[in-house]
Amino acid sequence: MNLHEMTAHRLHELLKAREISSTEIVEAVFNRIEAVDGTVKAYMTLTREQAMAIAREADAAFKNGQAAPLTGIPLALKDNMCTSGIKTTCSSKILENFVPPYNATVVERFRAIHTPLVGKTNLDEFAMGSSTENSAFFTTRNPWDTTRVPGGSSGGSAAAVAADEAVIALGSDTGGSIRQPAAFCGVVGMKPTYGYVSRYGLIAFASSLDQIGPFTRDVTDTALVMNVIAGHDPLDSTSVRREAPDFTKSLVNDVKGLRIGVPREYFVEGIQPEVKEAVAKTIDLLARLGAEIQEISMPHTEYALATYYLIAPAEASSNLARYDGVRYGYRAKEAPDVITMFKKTRSEGFGAEVKRRIMLGTYALSSGYYDAYYLKAQKVRTLIKQDFDRAFETCDALVSPTTPTVPFKIGEKSGDPLAMYLSDLFTIPANLAATPALSVPCALSKEGLPIGIQVMGKAFDEGTLLRIAYTIEQNTDVHNQKPNLAGAAGRDAGGPAKDAGRAHDTGRASGKDVR
Ligand code: GLN
Repeated sequence: MNLHEMTAHRLHELLKAREISSTEIVEAVFNRIEAVDGTVKAYMTLTREQAMAIAREADAAFKNGQAAPLTGIPLALKDNMCTSGIKTTCSSKILENFVPPYNATVVERFRAIHTPLVGKTNLDEFAMGSSTENSAFFTTRNPWDTTRVPGGSSGGSAAAVAADEAVIALGSDTGGSIRQPAAFCGVVGMKPTYGYVSRYGLIAFASSLDQIGPFTRDVTDTALVMNVIAGHDPLDSTSVRREAPDFTKSLVNDVKGLRIGVPREYFVEGIQPEVKEAVAKTIDLLARLGAEIQEISMPHTEYALATYYLIAPAEASSNLARYDGVRYGYRAKEAPDVITMFKKTRSEGFGAEVKRRIMLGTYALSSGYYDAYYLKAQKVRTLIKQDFDRAFETCDALVSPTTPTVPFKIGEKSGDPLAMYLSDLFTIPANLAATPALSVPCALSKEGLPIGIQVMGKAFDEGTLLRIAYTIEQNTDVHNQKPNLAGAAGRDAGGPAKDAGRAHDTGRASGKDVR
């Protein structure tokens, strides 16, 4: 197996035994990017020089016996997490040339253990979307079938890990943006409990829902990433004061006696039969391995999508008010007065979906409608949370499909926002309830497309989710399969690699790639 294809824990063994170096791993990953990213298009910005410098630090740390489990392991970051001196665009024209003066807390934590940053990955503009088609610059492709979307909004991070263009990655999940692309790309993705991972330096979309989490090739690596990123941060006022456990202790191949709930409302019409079947088979497997499966009801599930599409846009409309052309980011030229400058900046800087959310949110918060929409949505959010509380009185965890369908075709839903919103039907409730949830691959469809199963748990009980996911992984073989990118185009081979909108280090990103 090539270095860029291995899991982080396997690479760590080899690094520890001094059989390989971090600089070799980073080289291998960049060679892989050169070979396939012209097709996959996972990255907005590459940070090769910095990655090599950190890899050398990592190699020194191994020599001095000061290495952590993720020291020297190539990491990709969704481009909505601030990186000091490195562009952070949110895949938006309004932040096209924004270079943050500071690092997000998660970035600092990886910096402290010498984890090389490979680059920043593409997303739906401001994390609003489910396919990366809302990126202002280009669409990322699903490594398993490049005519299909990788999911979103963290599609670049998911595709990078699936295509072996990074070993681990971080994304953010407001309504499913880690779990849905993880399911679509055949990797593991977890949204931790709200407040477990610091949001300091994560560019805000909907502050009461946003959470950073890992993308990895297997469940062991998810636990390793959680060990780095979870825990209190005084710089984030919503960060919980709670010591994070060693998540690797939960990597137990045993579900005997665990009570696993199957919420009836998550098996509705509209789920593709293949997805339903794959999830049902996995539930059978858990039962055979000794889990107690219970059918339960979570009656408010059907209101989750509507609730989310009031609360998330309301918070977004407030968070995005800061992009006014004055303090940072894009400023429209040739405006005769300040009001025109605001208007032109925002009209030219934001894409259609972001504008739609700002309008929806502003409407829901406006006087006269606040009680009917925003306040009502907050009340329904409580009812949804209570569904979870009640379920956890009799269950240790819940399972469902992660997404209703296998990855859809590029362009298939981009003209129909409602159809796009429906792809997050099963992931949104956990954000509203602030509880943890993950997606682990459970099967490939007949066409060879990945299918994920979602495991949801009690607040701060990521351990049980990891245990269930680890058991699924150890008793199936989907995670050993890889997409075939043999015909992929290289990044700098005169092919699609020369896209407008791609940048090396702090180079300019501009123009929209419409291929
Ligand atoms: N797809 C959902 C949306 O468009 C969720 C996005 C997310 O989790 N960031 O809002």
